[in-house]
Amino acid sequence: MKSRIIFLADMQSFFASVEKAADPTIRDKPIVVAGDPERRSGVVLAACPLAKAYGVTTAEALWQAQQKCRQLVVVKPRMETYIRVSLQITRIFESFTDLVEPYSIDEQFLDVTGSAALFGDPLTIAEQIRERVRLETGIVCRIGIGENKVLAKMACDNFAKKQSQGVFWLKRSDLAETLWPLPVEKLFGVGSRMKRHFHRIGVYTIGQVAKLSPAVLTRRWGVNGEILWRTAHGLDDSPVSPRTHELQKGIGHHMTLPRDYHTAADIKVILLELCEEVCRRARSKNLMGSVVSVGCRGADFDTATGFWRQMKLFEPTHDAMTLFQAVGHLFERHWRHTPVRSIGVNLSQLIEDDTYQLSLFEDKQRQRALAAAIDGIRARYGNAAVLRAISLLDSGQARERARKIGGHYK
Ligand SMILES: [Mg+2]
Repeated sequence: MKSRIIFLADMQSFFASVEKAADPTIRDKPIVVAGDPERRSGVVLAACPLAKAYGVTTAEALWQAQQKCRQLVVVKPRMETYIRVSLQITRIFESFTDLVEPYSIDEQFLDVTGSAALFGDPLTIAEQIRERVRLETGIVCRIGIGENKVLAKMACDNFAKKQSQGVFWLKRSDLAETLWPLPVEKLFGVGSRMKRHFHRIGVYTIGQVAKLSPAVLTRRWGVNGEILWRTAHGLDDSPVSPRTHELQKGIGHHMTLPRDYHTAADIKVILLELCEEVCRRARSKNLMGSVVSVGCRGADFDTATGFWRQMKLFEPTHDAMTLFQAVGHLFERHWRHTPVRSIGVNLSQLIEDDTYQLSLFEDKQRQRALAAAIDGIRARYGNAAVLRAISLLDSGQARERARKIGGHYK
């Protein structure tokens, strides 16, 4: 394989940084993003560097964080905004390479092997990317560089994040001086259980793992043991694949309703709207899915009155009515007639839609042409330009939502 240049870009204190970029009045204050400030409940989802200086840590209880820092500003999470900013950052990355793979909401892999002629050497590209992210979103990003994904990931976690330059290139030829002296738990893939096991057998550093025989590791952990040994040697052939994340997670859409819905008829209107949106997005990405899941919750999000169930479809689809038939059955089978306030549909096990089974019983070509035409109209004139008549009923939300928020995010 030709030598590659891979980046792992990580957003510093992502949720907190998004909030600070949006509100200059909190820019110089210690802030956390956390559950519910009024009720002092919940955990810290993100802390800005100023809050961290007080000892506040991610995932601790909010009341504990507030004890450590009296003037702590608590901001409620706005997940839809974070997803939007994350996608905005993906777009920036995509102007440097078409090989961008979101790894989590605040970490993305980039393969910039082919970008050198246009943008320069890896360190120059990294600086350009960091500058654009900072200018366009106000967020600091740290970049680990390596010849593959595990090296880029470990370069970021163990070095780029720890140093003020924010960029680190972890080279395979230097591992003995850079990576190997680090404690074993800094090896990508080693959790707390593995760490305890390694300590029991006298292995404390990554270098010691590298020097074990792969057979010893395989005997203990099977294929994962072999991967661990390869990781310690900086070996990893996995490609940066733009689709994997999406293909695994599927395409979902979710609505919180303005009031409790009580009847199957009302709920089905919403389910159809959700299926429409999920399928529209699947089609826009040329994907079809073969597993559908549906779920709902009541108004009191603290007590578990709801469910989430999935089923395998007869064949992959991105047709709203096909999806809706499955979703409708699935919902009816599991719904206990409790009031519904929040409801979602997800389509997963996605595949590219350029291969599909022609069915003898349905005219799929026509269905596809119709869906494509409707998608085109909506893309041009807005989601409310073409609605199913059912969405005009009182229980429908599509028209109102299209007008109010013009898409799927607030
Ligand atoms: Mg981060």
